[in-house]
Order: sequence, then C-alpha cells, then structure tokens
Amino acid sequence: MKATEDGTGLRSPRHRIDAHVHIMTHRRVRGGIKWVRPVAPDYEKVSLDITTEELLNHLEEEGVEAFFNFFYPLKPGETAEINQWHRDFADHCPNAIPFASLHAGDENKEAIIIQALDRQQFVGFKFHPYIQSFSILDDRLARVFEEFQERQCPVVIHTGFSEFYGRPSMVADTRELLRRYPRLHLVVAHMLYPDLPLDNWPALLDEYPHLYLDTTNTLVYCQPGTPGSERLQKLIASHSSRLVFGTDFPMGTLYPTGKLHDIAARLCPDQDSLDNLMWRTACRIIGKDLFAD
Ligand SMILES: [Zn+2]
Repeated sequence: MKATEDGTGLRSPRHRIDAHVHIMTHRRVRGGIKWVRPVAPDYEKVSLDITTEELLNHLEEEGVEAFFNFFYPLKPGETAEINQWHRDFADHCPNAIPFASLHAGDENKEAIIIQALDRQQFVGFKFHPYIQSFSILDDRLARVFEEFQERQCPVVIHTGFSEFYGRPSMVADTRELLRRYPRLHLVVAHMLYPDLPLDNWPALLDEYPHLYLDTTNTLVYCQPGTPGSERLQKLIASHSSRLVFGTDFPMGTLYPTGKLHDIAARLCPDQDSLDNLMWRTACRIIGKDLFAD
C-alpha cells in the first residue's frame, strides 16, 4: 500500500476524474449552493459568490485531472442558451468533459441533439428528471433515447434520493428504460440510492453491458462504518469496471471534495478497483484513453 503525502496510509489512484461536477452560470451555481446547504453544512464554507476560476482551482487542488460537467435547463426553451454557455466554458477549460442537456418540453429536440453532438462536440447528455420535472419515459423523449442508443453516446440520468426530492422512486422507470433501450450507454447517477437495494445491481449490470453506475452521493452514505458499506464494497469488488466516482461539486455532500476521494480510497479493496472507480471507467464511458502514455 502506498502511503499518501499526509501519512494517512490510504491508497492513491494513478489518476483522478471527477465524473459528476456542475460548473454552470453564476446564478445557477449560487442557487445550487444555497439549495444544498441545509443538508450539506460543509457548503457553508463555500462562498455564494464563488467564481468559475475558484471552482476550477478547488478541483485542481484535489488532483482532479478531468471532470464530467453537467448543466441542464430547468424549463423548455432555455436549452440552446445553456448548451452554448457550456460549450464556451469547455472551450476555455480543457479539463472539462461537457455533457449537453435538453428539456422534454423543448421543440426541435432532434435539431438540439445534432447541434450538441455533431457541431458542438458534447460528449453525451445529462438529465435530472426530478428537477427538470419530467419522466424519463415521457413520450416526448422516445425518439431522443432511440437516437442516443443509435449514436452510442453516454447518457447520464439523475436517479435516487426520491424522498429528499419528495418525488416517486425512479426504480421502475429506470428498469423500463433499460428494457426499452437495452443498448443505451446509460450512466445511472446516484445508483437509485437508497430506493433500490445495492444487491440488485450485479444482475442488472450483467444483463446490460452498457450500463454504468455513478456513485456520487452514494459513497458518503455507505462509507466504512455504516451498515451499507459492506454491500457497496462487495459491488466495487465485483463491478468496479462499471462504476465511476463523482462529487456533485459545488452542490454535493462533503467539502472539500477530497473528503470524498478519501472515502473512495477506503472503500476500494485494492489498487485496481480504485483505479477503475477513480478514472478508468470514466475513460471507458467516453471512449477515450485520457492518460495514454
Ligand atoms: Zn448532480
């Protein structure tokens, strides 16, 4: 075991990709931090006036070499502006791996997808059905998911924490989405936690070879010493090549986000699973070997 610089004796991954970050407009970042503070007191330490540069500095300080960035519209009609802002941001930030979004209520969704994936070179799409207020099985999205499946582009969907959002569980919808689009490259953010018991994942991962799980916010609730830790460790041991690490920064659980990196290191049973969780699976999802020698 390699000791870290601070002498805690934790393993270190060879690289770090944060596969769940929200760098957005100042207004949306401010709203997000305010929203999360009541359940994540660490975020009292983050100024509501934090700048984009300061957000990027924090990721760099934690050793993050690349990150998946998510910014989605809250209502129909604002997608073009948001995706353009996101593209401009990523143009100035080579470490950002930007995911576009759209709203089920948008017109011309096909044109939005062509613009985002063919012209603006977004990597994939991200949806947050609870905050965006639509179901992933919405008829208006049927063509959209067909298109994503054909293109084999990664699609990240927020799932889980239904009670916190005061919304119905997404377990049945997610299973049905997989049934309808079995070849979809789907990343289930937050792993439907705690709505679906962790023991259910191995069978689903084995059934759907393009299914991935984003452990964001799940790790903290299943950290060593909690009742869920053993089950999560078991899943990491068997399926780390399908799991990614993320922090939801700057509207996540713990801050500084290095606290979450440390939990990941403590949960992983060996170096190989830690490297999978912290960067290798993320590279696989986007189909790019970011750290090729
Ligand atoms: Zn998020």
